[in-house]
Amino acid sequence: MKSFLVDQNGYYGEFGGAFIPEILHKCVEELQENYLKVMESEEFKQEYDRLLRDYVGRPSPLYYARRLAEKYGCRLYLKREDLNHTGAHKINNTIGQILIARRMGKRRIIAETGAGQHGVATATVCALMNMECVVYMGRTDVERQHINVEKMKMLGATVVPVTSGNMTLKDATNEAIRDWCCHPEDTYYIIGSTVGPHPYPDMVARLQSVISEEIRKQLLEHEGRDYPDYLIACVGGGSNAAGTIYHYVDDERVKIVLAEAGGKGVQTGMTAATIQLGRMGIIHGAKTYVIQDEDGQIEEPYSISAGLDYPGIGPLHANLAAQHRATVLPINDDEALAAAYELTRMEGIIPALESAHALGTLAKMKFRPDDVVVLTVSGRGDKDIETYLANTVL
Ligand SMILES: *Cc1c(COP(=O)(O)O)cnc(C)c1O
Repeated sequence: MKSFLVDQNGYYGEFGGAFIPEILHKCVEELQENYLKVMESEEFKQEYDRLLRDYVGRPSPLYYARRLAEKYGCRLYLKREDLNHTGAHKINNTIGQILIARRMGKRRIIAETGAGQHGVATATVCALMNMECVVYMGRTDVERQHINVEKMKMLGATVVPVTSGNMTLKDATNEAIRDWCCHPEDTYYIIGSTVGPHPYPDMVARLQSVISEEIRKQLLEHEGRDYPDYLIACVGGGSNAAGTIYHYVDDERVKIVLAEAGGKGVQTGMTAATIQLGRMGIIHGAKTYVIQDEDGQIEEPYSISAGLDYPGIGPLHANLAAQHRATVLPINDDEALAAAYELTRMEGIIPALESAHALGTLAKMKFRPDDVVVLTVSGRGDKDIETYLANTVL
């Protein structure tokens, strides 16, 4: 049977692979050869599971959102990744990768960050494991995301402002890769989403797959069956979505709906809707859809939500869209804001702006009353309060 998971060569259909400078071949190959061995060892599983339980606070609840379910005419559950330590799903990945790094004998951790959320999640686990941490961040983002910069510093990380290009995520990524090229022996690069060269997309998806593993058990308790009719998640690079769908991706009973950031509108030029506008290209070491101009230059994406303005998309998700396995809906800034205020007023949960994009799909769907819908709330909205206040919908 055809699978939507990664193949032996690191591809999802025609997407993925490892397009990296010669100097990194050894490093990436080392990781390709070791990640599954490490992740499947009993000793890794035990330490990872224990930290997820006692440090992160897993399992995260599967909450039946009664009022919202009534409004949208379905059986709606929220997977509460917002309740994790550090406020989002990202910690599931950084904990896993730092345990892998240690088992590969690495002593120094580097990461790239845009909004700073992945930087904070990485600095957090470096403090926990007493490892050196260097985070690359575009100077524009350093200024925009001041609080996260201070958190990373407080956690003991060195934050390096990057001044090339537009001074945002893409430039920070280039700088992290440059650092990795200079220190391939002792340095491990923690990538924050299901992007980058193989094996990163698969490794990150597996680490986040704890989300769908829990959904299976929790649905069985709540509904007496272990699968939903719909899974809904937002997509930046794709990690919370990958974790949400992982155990269901080859199960045709389950429909997959992904929300990407429409920004001010797909046709306005101020957007991060990669599936709508992207063309095949190479970004961050993988072949996937990229928002680019006629000359193949990557275009600066825009979204009200800093965690979704990535000009590419993970190869897993690009393939799901290309094969029509997933429905990808662009959700504009104003739609996400309205959905965030709605969740806040109807359920008493202030979501991250990224997660609000997933919520924004509800109004565009047509459900049957007995449809079981699971929507992942990837993070909490504390970090977005300034943006909410500046854009009140009430
Ligand atoms: C980073 C982030 C995202 C987007 O990243 P994915 O890899 O696509 O999940 C979504 N939600 C929150 C809360 C985030 O911090």
